[in-house]
Amino acid sequence: VPPGFTITTEACNMYFEVGKVLSEELKEEALQHLRALEAKMNKKFGDNQNPLLVSVRSGSVISMPGMMDTILNLGLNDDAVVGFAKLTENERFAYDCYRRFIQMFGDVVMGIKHSDFDAIIDDQKIEKGVTMDTELTAEDWKAVIVKYKALVKQETGREFPQDPMEQLFMAVEAVFSSWNNDRAIYYRKLNGIPDYLGTAVNVQSMVFGNMGDTSGTGVAFTRNPSTGERKLYGEFLMNAQGEDVVAGIRTPLGIAEMERVVPQAYEQFKQICSTLENHYKDMQDIEFTIEKGNLYILQTRSGKRTAQAAVKVAYDLVAEGLINKEEALLRIDPNQLVSLLHRGIDPNATFEVLAKGLPASPGSASGQIVFDADEAEERGENGEKVILVRTETTPDDIHGIVKSQGILTSRGGMTSHAAVVARGMGKPCVCGCEALKINLADEVIEVNGQTLKKGDMISIDGATGNVILGELKMVDPELSEEFKTILEWANQVKRLKVRANADNERDAKQARSFGAEGIGLCRTEHMFMEQGRLHVVQEMILSETLEDRKKALAKLLPFQMGDFESIFREMDGLPVLIRLLDPPLHEFLPDIKELIKEVAVLEIEKPDSDELLQKKILMAKVQNLSEMNPMLGHRGSRLGVVYPEIYEMQVRAIMGAAVKMKKEGYTVLPEIEVPLIGINNELTKLRQLIVDTAEEVLQEAGVEVEYLVGTMIEIPRACIIADEIAKQTDFCSFGTNDLTQTTFGFSRDDAEGKFLHYYIDNKILENNPFAVLDRTGVGSLMKMAVEKIRPLKEHYDIGICGEHGGEPSSVEFCDMIGLTYVSCSPFRVPIARLAAAQAAIRNK
Ligand code: PEP
Ligand code: MG
Repeated sequence: VPPGFTITTEACNMYFEVGKVLSEELKEEALQHLRALEAKMNKKFGDNQNPLLVSVRSGSVISMPGMMDTILNLGLNDDAVVGFAKLTENERFAYDCYRRFIQMFGDVVMGIKHSDFDAIIDDQKIEKGVTMDTELTAEDWKAVIVKYKALVKQETGREFPQDPMEQLFMAVEAVFSSWNNDRAIYYRKLNGIPDYLGTAVNVQSMVFGNMGDTSGTGVAFTRNPSTGERKLYGEFLMNAQGEDVVAGIRTPLGIAEMERVVPQAYEQFKQICSTLENHYKDMQDIEFTIEKGNLYILQTRSGKRTAQAAVKVAYDLVAEGLINKEEALLRIDPNQLVSLLHRGIDPNATFEVLAKGLPASPGSASGQIVFDADEAEERGENGEKVILVRTETTPDDIHGIVKSQGILTSRGGMTSHAAVVARGMGKPCVCGCEALKINLADEVIEVNGQTLKKGDMISIDGATGNVILGELKMVDPELSEEFKTILEWANQVKRLKVRANADNERDAKQARSFGAEGIGLCRTEHMFMEQGRLHVVQEMILSETLEDRKKALAKLLPFQMGDFESIFREMDGLPVLIRLLDPPLHEFLPDIKELIKEVAVLEIEKPDSDELLQKKILMAKVQNLSEMNPMLGHRGSRLGVVYPEIYEMQVRAIMGAAVKMKKEGYTVLPEIEVPLIGINNELTKLRQLIVDTAEEVLQEAGVEVEYLVGTMIEIPRACIIADEIAKQTDFCSFGTNDLTQTTFGFSRDDAEGKFLHYYIDNKILENNPFAVLDRTGVGSLMKMAVEKIRPLKEHYDIGICGEHGGEPSSVEFCDMIGLTYVSCSPFRVPIARLAAAQAAIRNK
């Protein structure tokens, strides 16, 4: 490791605290360390005989893309470059280093456009009639440097700093400032990294990968960051410095090629990789340089990886004896698993591959071509499916990447920005698809003789690198053996049970295959909306008399029974919690605005028709049912109280299905749930209705089925009277979607689209409370409710079935307050299992 020193994160925080200035104390201390470094290297900063050169790089606790690029060759000036040329006996090399330094420093520290520097080189090449940088001589670089310095003067009004100490402190300040640039802030927000961490600055003596054919530089992972396979993975480039590897000027070689090119260094590198892995007990991402055959390690950190790799590496590290099962469980970020639970292209689908790129991040997606990140963001937010297509992505594209289904680039390798970011987010990505000739100005792509335009539908497969024209059928994922084993380990340590929210046979099946221990919420309204049923539901709602309503309900009964039968069959032996009807009735009726329009048209076209009369009656009824605040209106248990016949039909269907399935030999465990309770008397009345109906069905059938009656706790008042509720029920479940809505007084249908983003951006709220459970407010109410219930009923199931039930931080909170289970969407069941295990380990 080249010697150097580190300016700590505390210094960074202090820099911001005192108003963005480097304190004298810091400067003094840095100077002392620099003197020590000079002594160690036997070189002198800025010297015209034997100059010390350093690199300056950022170093935060958690590595983040978007921080300042590393500055190399710092310490060069008009004097030192002379000494450096003597020292290296290579004038061309020395001046090339100096011009690179001015360019890099000018760009990242002084804010001058990189391309303005490039233009100067291009001019020089034209002047000399050459095409490659390597054809430029020392004299050429000297000429370029003169122009570079003029550019700096012109753009900033000052000379390029010649004092190396000034260069150093300017670079240090730039690193600190980059902690708070937009890209870094955005990345932290996205990944829940606290702002107060700050970044350190690493100042390290330079080693040179561009000192001829026995020198080089590279980046490698100790295991494959896409698949987790235990095999070195990475790229290197001989006779090159830092940026050259990623800049794509020359194509780097695969890391295995090092064995042939620099066998000794390769052998040593392999040894070091294994030493570092054994020490950190994790896969490492290592930057190295070879200077005249000598290997130097510049940086090592835990390697970013796909979910697939995270699972495999954690599993393998246990098998290799480096970590234990609990450590392995803590190694995997449950949020990242989403990508493994994502859909892929149907293996039976037939398609023609339009082009092939690098398989940079697994998962498949179809979407419309969009070339611009802002547009991708906008259209993605509008619910459109888009694929962001770029020559290559930069950190400034991140907002567009977030809202795209996937990313496709024509340039860049497996370690390019697009690849790294996509893997982190679990988005499909195909990189370096060179067959695509992208014309950003006209927004078209030429590919193998075809022209694609913006808006054309394409599909990408990030596991194979395939780019396909058109939309494809996708299929649900299967879990790898390693993943299944890790989830079994999770089951061994977790305390919370994990159920799924499933409304039909297909979801129930998926949930069970992912290890759900029951259904924690079956929303019956979706069954009402199904094709062929809606008109019966409408007939029921619009009935004038109880008798008519019952007739319509009788028609619905067999449908409902069929739904429940298939779910009971699928969940044989596991509890199935079914919620009685919840939404306001007008949700099932035609839109009032449309009706008004239709009536207006009929009044002109068919003024005396029966059709008009019927439409008017319908319009009046819909108007009658519409509410100013439907979410706070006639919904949930309030429906059951006023129209008990609806719930009665549903209970008949549930118990009828249970009886039938039991007779067929299945083990059925129905749990009947009343939504949105706020008043104890609502519950008294509805419980009686449910029990009476259920007993009647059982008696008629002459079969015994154990069933439970419970309720949802989703308004604050229900938390306050939780003890009363517990006395009348066999279980309860927190509906945290509504509980969040009613606790904050935020409309869940509007808040996210209106002001919530402003609140989050401006730090009025830390997180979206509809996504991450608000522990302080909503969580306190839940805790209070649990504390009221437990002394009365020790073994009473308390669950959660809002969206939070599949969100890791919320799952942790549920573990802390002693809930019985969480319930989430089928695809999130593995995430919840892992999160529940992590919570149990952390809360131990
Ligand atoms: C809830 O409110 O959290 C809940 C699960 O019910 P729904 O989302 O159906 O209102
Ligand atoms: Mg609800």
